[in-house]
Order: sequence, then C-alpha cells, then structure tokens
Amino acid sequence: MNEASTPNTTARATIYQPLPEHPRLDALDAGLLGSVVRGEARLSPQQGLDLLERAPMHTLGRYADARCRHVHGDTIRTYVIDRNINYTNVCTAKCTFCAFRRDATDHDSYTLEKEELFAKVEAVRAIGGTQILMQGGMNPDLPLDWYLDLLSELKTRFPGLHIHAFSPPEMIEFVNFFDPPGANLEEKIRWVLVRLQQAGLDSLPGGGGEIFAPAVRNKIGLGKCTAEAWLTTMYVAHSLGMYTSATMMFGHIEGYADRIHHMRLVREWQDKALLDFGTGEIPDSVAGDPTIAKPTTGGHYVSFISWPFQPDNTPLGRVKEWGTLADDEGEFPGDVVATLDGSGTKADHKEFGRRIRMAGATEYLRTQAVSRLMLDNIYSIGSSWVTMGPHIGQLALHYGANDMGSVMMEENVVSAAGTTYCLDEPVLNHLIRTAGFTPAQRNNTYDILRLNTGENSPDLLVEDWSEHRAKKLHQQANAPVNAPADLTVGASD
Ligand code: SF4
Repeated sequence: MNEASTPNTTARATIYQPLPEHPRLDALDAGLLGSVVRGEARLSPQQGLDLLERAPMHTLGRYADARCRHVHGDTIRTYVIDRNINYTNVCTAKCTFCAFRRDATDHDSYTLEKEELFAKVEAVRAIGGTQILMQGGMNPDLPLDWYLDLLSELKTRFPGLHIHAFSPPEMIEFVNFFDPPGANLEEKIRWVLVRLQQAGLDSLPGGGGEIFAPAVRNKIGLGKCTAEAWLTTMYVAHSLGMYTSATMMFGHIEGYADRIHHMRLVREWQDKALLDFGTGEIPDSVAGDPTIAKPTTGGHYVSFISWPFQPDNTPLGRVKEWGTLADDEGEFPGDVVATLDGSGTKADHKEFGRRIRMAGATEYLRTQAVSRLMLDNIYSIGSSWVTMGPHIGQLALHYGANDMGSVMMEENVVSAAGTTYCLDEPVLNHLIRTAGFTPAQRNNTYDILRLNTGENSPDLLVEDWSEHRAKKLHQQANAPVNAPADLTVGASD
C-alpha cells in the first residue's frame, strides 16, 4: 500500500476488532461471501478487485443486498431532510472534473450574504429539515472569523440545527489561509477544527475524496489536498467525536484497482478511528445485527457514497473516451497504471489521463455493491440517485444501499456538470416503498425520526401521481449553474 497513507494504528482494548481476511480463497467462493455477509470475514483487496472485474451482476447484487439486510434489517430504508448550501463558488483549486468553481474576478462568482444563507436555512426548517450540508469552493478572501460568526449565529438562530459542513479540502485550505500554530499538519487541522466545533460545527461531509491514488488525484484534482491530508483531516474530526462520511467519484481516468485501493484506505482509517476512539457502546438505533454496524459512539465514518463522474461543462469531460480513437488498443490506460497499493505512476502508460472510461448504470451498481461488501466497518451505504436518476437510485437499494440520501432544496455542484434529478419527499418515499421497503426519515447519526407507515405518510397523501410526477420528477439538464432551485431531494455526502 501507499506508505504515506498507512494509518499508524495503536489498538486499545475495545469491543471492535477488524475482521480476519482469507486471501487464499477465490473471491466467488460461496463460503467466503457468506462469511462476509454475516460479518465474520473481510474481503482482501484482491478479492474485492476480482468481484468488481468478474462477478456476475446478479451475484454481486444478491450478496450486497444480503449484507445490507444483515446490517440494516429487511424493513426500513432511510432518507434525511436537509439543504445543500454552496456558500461560495470562488475556489483556489482547478479540478478538471468541476464545472462549479469560479475565480473571484469572474462575473458570475458569488459568496452568499449571511442573511441570504439564513433565509435558506429558514426554508428547510419550514419543511421539517434537521440539518444543513454547507460546502463551498475554497475562497481565500473569507477570514476565520467569517466562519466562526456564521456558525455561532446559525446555532443561535436555529437551535437544534445540525451543521454538516466543510469537507477536508476546505479544511486543508483553511490551514493554508489562516496559518494556525502547530508542529505538523495534524496539529494545525486540530487548532482550526476545535474552533469551528466550538462555534457550532457538528460534523464533516466527505466531499473531495474523488480517487485517493496519487497518479489519478494529481491529474484531476489540481490544487486539491492529497489523500493523506484528506484522511488525516477526517481522523482529527473523529478524535473530536465527529461522525463523518466518505465519498468516491469514479468513471473517469482511474482503473478498477484504484477504486478498491480507495475503499481499502477508508476501511483501514475506519479501523483506526474505531480502535482509537471507540467507547465500546452500541447505540439503540442499530436496526439489524449490531455486532459490526455501529460498535462505538466515538467519532468515525458513518457512511460511504460513490457516484460516477458527470462530464458536462468540465475540462475532463472533453477528454476522449477510451475505445473511440483508431489507435486505442490494449488495456485501458487507467487499469495499466492502477495498483491495489496506490503506487502506480503516470509513466506506466503514455495515454494515462488522456482517455476516460465513463461509468453507466451497470458500472455504478457493481461498484456500489462491492463497496457494501468491502466496507465491512461502515454502517451506511448511500444511493446516488442525484447522478444516476431516481429509478437506478431505487434499484441501488437492492445493490447494497440502505439510504436514499438527503432531502435537499438546491444543488449547484453536480447540476453545473449537467445532471440534476429533482424529487420531493413524497416521490422519494414512493421510490423506497415501491422498492419493497418502509421509508423513514433519519437524522445525521442515522437515528430514525419518523417511520412512514401510516396514512399520513408523505407519499400516501398523494392522490394523483401522474400530475405529481410531471411537476416534481424531472431532469434539469443544462440548467444554469446558479439557477434558483425548486424544493428537491438529493443525495448528499
Ligand atoms: S471540485 Fe471543489 S475544490 Fe475542486 S475546483 Fe470545484 S469547487 Fe474547487
């Protein structure tokens, strides 16, 4: 593995222990997969790669679904009501997959006024929202006090509001912008994060994960923090008791082994968080077998969500797909460079980074299913219907996902890249119910707030679905970047 990203695990006595691997078994060995489903064994990275590359689609779905049912039970699948607030689009980074960022001098750059931001929070509170997801570009003109004042005023104005904000790349730029004291990066992150937490920050979203392997990350995440910095930021957040999420964006220049390497790092750093900060308590909210699901109330990753790259309006989207040029031959360059330890380099293939391999519905479902099986220590796997559409998102509930993501009232980042599916709460409930489950509203820590079984459930109150769908379920392809958004529901990280 990439030595720079190997967590230095110092195990303490808790009930959590990483599961054993059986690397000599074939990935499709029914006994192995049965043990993985029951939480008795861990897939090795090579077995994860083998599943991703060659397992029959229905086999993957069957085992991922069985694993999900083992952890979450057969009945309930969840969503959360929140609002995605992108407070600024000014950004120092130049990620090649991003259509959202602007320079401060661009005519359509913006930073929200605080009153504007408060009005957005008021609106989500009015529909029963419990949290906000606040992420932005990385804007060097905003001082630390801007964030501290914003957080404390949000907490004062909206008691009980959960503030899920500032992904690791933002945190690392805060360290660069604010130059905090500290002997190393971890201490500097802690200095900033403690102050943000004291002002009202509750948890960190997993944005900016992309693909951790350096060869890929250096090509697509120009100016964005390294994987080591990303993972260290989350580790510091976990040390402060925060629940965080992890993400992965795939279906571009990466190889299949890069996706498994990415999951492996999340899993290993989760081991470290659970070992170092676990209290040994098992919350009541665990729905299925609690032996592995949420073994601790200490800080750790609580969810993982992955989605395919959305190409519209992005520099990366202009790169040719592999197989479309006459001289494309042999293996996809990303697969030649990718290794399970992240050690591949761009020198390993001259076309690396110059060809993309887009991921469609099948690829998405396969990758998500493998993530459910690989990430044996992550409680929630989220469906990414914002990028894949409502019906693939619904199908994802049978490929290892237990959660349909966040009720959001706007989304600017993915929609800038061309894809936004808009659903309201009744439609989301309808999708969960017609997939064979009972929809339930959750909070940020996955406690159930409302089980939608009665006649007053949001979807059961709808009398005319044809009219409702026509109004609410649509794709805003090519919508302007900052177009006003209707009430929508979406996946968040
Ligand atoms: S993806 Fe995020 S960090 Fe990268 S350029 Fe866009 S706004 Fe900036």
